[in-house]
Amino acid sequence: MALMDAQAYRNSLKRLRPRVYALGEAIEDVVEHPLTRPHVNAAALTYELASPDPRNPLVATSHLSGSCVSRFLHIHQSRDDLVHKVKMLRMLGSQTGSCFQRCVGLDALNALYEVTWRIDDKYGTQYHENLRRHLRYLQDNDLMSDGAMTDPKGDRSLPPSRQDDPDLFLRVVERSSDGIVVSGAKMHQTGAVNSHEIIALPTQAMTAEDRDWAVAFALPVDAPGISFVFGRQTNDSRRLEGSDIDQGNPLYGQVGGEALVLFDRVFVPKERVFLDGQWEFTGPLVELFAASHRQNYGGCKTGVADVLIGACALMAEINGVAKASHIRDKLVEMVHLAETLYCCSLACSYEGSRLQSGAFNVDVMLANVTKLNVTRFVYEIARLAHDIAGGLIATTPSEKDLKSESIGPLLRKYLRARADVPAEDRIRLTRLIEGMTGGTALVESMHGAGSPQAQRVMILRQCNLAAKIRLARKLAGIGAQR
Ligand code: SF4
Ligand code: FE
Repeated sequence: MALMDAQAYRNSLKRLRPRVYALGEAIEDVVEHPLTRPHVNAAALTYELASPDPRNPLVATSHLSGSCVSRFLHIHQSRDDLVHKVKMLRMLGSQTGSCFQRCVGLDALNALYEVTWRIDDKYGTQYHENLRRHLRYLQDNDLMSDGAMTDPKGDRSLPPSRQDDPDLFLRVVERSSDGIVVSGAKMHQTGAVNSHEIIALPTQAMTAEDRDWAVAFALPVDAPGISFVFGRQTNDSRRLEGSDIDQGNPLYGQVGGEALVLFDRVFVPKERVFLDGQWEFTGPLVELFAASHRQNYGGCKTGVADVLIGACALMAEINGVAKASHIRDKLVEMVHLAETLYCCSLACSYEGSRLQSGAFNVDVMLANVTKLNVTRFVYEIARLAHDIAGGLIATTPSEKDLKSESIGPLLRKYLRARADVPAEDRIRLTRLIEGMTGGTALVESMHGAGSPQAQRVMILRQCNLAAKIRLARKLAGIGAQR
C-alpha cells in the first residue's frame, strides 16, 4: 500500500474500535470528538505533507523493502537520516504549533531494532525477526504506532518485583506456546488514542528478579483488554463549548493528547513479542530510546517556538510597540534560545554513530543536553512571551462576550489596540499565546522524554569526569595520586 493521505488516515481510525474514556464517558469516534479531534488533525498533517518525493523530509527509503515510507516508520541508516528527522520535526512543529505525536513510536522502533538484534545475538532468539516483520507491516500499511514506555511505578524506592501491587509495572502474567498475557498500565501516552498500534517497552533498567516485567511487544489499539483514559488539559472545556477563538489553536491544540493505557490480561501473539525476560537488555533499551527521544525536543519545540515568536512579534506590532528596543531585545532572546535548542538537536544527530545492528543512533551525551536545555529554555521563552504579550492573556473575555449583541461592541472598542487592527485579531493572538505558554504545554517540556533528573543522571554517566580531572592535573602540574 502507498502512503496514506490525511483523509485515509482519518478513515482508518474510524474503522478501529479502541475503548477510549474521557470525562467519565466513552468516546466512540476520536476523529470527531472535540477533545481528541485536534490531535487527530495534527497527526493527519504528517500524512498530508508526506509525498513520495525523495526531497520530502517526511519520507525515507525503507531498508527493508526499498519503498518510499513515512520517516516516522524509518530505521535511521545514516547521520543524514538523523538530521532529516530533526528538520522534519521543526517543520511540523512550525506548521502545527503543537505536538504531532508520532515520534515516540519512531523512537521505540529504532531502540528495539538495535536491542532485539543484540538479544538474538546472545540467545539465538527470534525477536529481531519479529521486529523486522512488524516494522514491515507498519511501513507497508503506513500505520501510526504509539510508543508506550512509562509505567505507573508505585513506590519509586522499590523495583517492580517488590511493589505492593505487581501490576504497577506492566508485566507478563502468563506464558504459553502461542504467546504471552500481560497486565498493567502505561501512563502519559502521547497520541495513543489516535494511533493504529501500540509498542510497549520497559520503563527502566531491571534486575533478574524483575524478569516478568522485562517485556516489549506490539498490539493494535483495539486488542481485547486494552482501554484508554484520555487526560485532561488546561482549558480543555473550551473545546467542548465549541469556541474557536477561546481555544487559541482550535485546529491542532497545544499538546499531544496524552492518555493512560490500561492492559487487563491482554494476549500478545508470540510473533509480536520483542523481549520477554532478558532483563539485562532493559537498561540499554531504555538508554537508546531515551537518547533518541531527547534528540527530538530541539526539533519540534523549536518549530513550536517559531510560531510563538511570530505571535509575539505580531502582538508587538498590533500594540504599536514593535520598534521599542526592549521588545526587540526580548524577541532576539527568544530566537537565541530557540535556535540554541535546534543547534543541540542537530549536533547530537551529526555526532551520531552506527550501532551493531547497522542502524544509526544519536550521540547520547548531546541528546541529553538537548532535552535538559528544553526543560529550561522553553520556560524562559514562555516567560518572555508573557512579558511581551501583556496581562491581557490572563484576563481576556470570552468569544461569547465578544460576539454578544449587548456587550460585544464595547469589547471591540476597548480591546482594540492599533486603530487599523480589529479587536478580534488581537484576541485571537492573545489566546494563541495563552495556550502555547500555559499549564499542560509547559509541563510537557519538563517531563516529556523523561524528567530533568533522568538527563542529569545520563550526563554524569557520559561525561567521564576522571578524564577531565586528568587534563586538569596535567596542566596544573599535579602528579598522579598515590
Ligand atoms: Fe514528537 Fe515533540 Fe510531540 Fe514528543 S512532544 S511526540 S517529540 S512532537
Ligand atoms: Fe513527548
